[in-house]
Amino acid sequence: MTHRASPETNPTAFPEVAEPLVSRVQETIISWFEAEARELPWRDPNTTAWAVLVSEIMSQQTPVSRVEPRWREWMEAWPTPADLALAPTAEVLHRWDRLGYPRRALRLQEAARVIADDLGNEVPETVEELLELPGIGSYTAAAVASFAHGQRTTVLDTNVRRVLIRVFAGRERPATSPGRRETEWATGFVPEQHHVEWNAGVMEFGALVCTARNPGCADCPLRDVCTWNRLGRPASATKPKTQKWAGTDRQLRGAIMDALKTAHSAEAEPAGISIDLFTTSVTVLDPDTLGSLDESTAAAVARVRELSADDQRISRLISDLVADGLAQEHAGRLDLPRT
Ligand code: SF4
Repeated sequence: MTHRASPETNPTAFPEVAEPLVSRVQETIISWFEAEARELPWRDPNTTAWAVLVSEIMSQQTPVSRVEPRWREWMEAWPTPADLALAPTAEVLHRWDRLGYPRRALRLQEAARVIADDLGNEVPETVEELLELPGIGSYTAAAVASFAHGQRTTVLDTNVRRVLIRVFAGRERPATSPGRRETEWATGFVPEQHHVEWNAGVMEFGALVCTARNPGCADCPLRDVCTWNRLGRPASATKPKTQKWAGTDRQLRGAIMDALKTAHSAEAEPAGISIDLFTTSVTVLDPDTLGSLDESTAAAVARVRELSADDQRISRLISDLVADGLAQEHAGRLDLPRT
């Protein structure tokens, strides 16, 4: 890293940073992490690489508080890749519960099958090998190589990017997604020693202190050197995209999946839910029709109809779920995949 401080206002610039500032930030973050990090089960020194991989996939776009109980259940049910590889897919989706983006669960099972069948049930160690697995992107590969195997990698999630861009570039938030230049810039801050603590520490610092909406600058151990704070915390010109949920296809897909998971728990025969129940043209389902279902499943199906009275839209989403491998259709009934 070159020794020249140059706070920038250009929203795409990645300034060179003076070495003393880099060292001060590294030391502060690593000390802070050792004192303040949350005790999370996948941070236990005895945890397995598989446990770390599962935690990373679950934590994408899902808060740790929701991940932890699911992660514990998963590790008890499927402590190794071979265990998950053999699990019925319906059970995998059911145990994913409400973590969201259930395709992640399918990809994780695909990865488990590759690890079990081709890699001796051992999670690969390098970024390059990890990237070969289904559903593993550059963030997850770098995180697993670092946190599970102690490799020196550049872990760049949304929290890390926000901290680096504030402290070293003086901007409120980074661009939508990281490009090659930002990745190279961030790599320059990863220390030779204690790089695992640095990677985990910056991420944790962004999650707990330098948060997106309400950063704790008043008590921050970096407040005297943080470029954004020293500039008076200027607002970024662009507003962050807020992801709408209510009324979206994602919400309705989630409701259909909830109904299928609830029916799966009920273990009724015949399996699944009649597709007519999803696509009937009445807005509120006839209680007589729902009478064939157990109470929880009936409520979950009714919830789908509350969200949308548009049969074509529901049919389209059901087709998408089937195409994505998240549901299967058989004899006019929709069910979780039974493979
Ligand atoms: S001073 Fe504020 S913006 Fe800067 S690192 Fe600390 S919390 Fe983040």
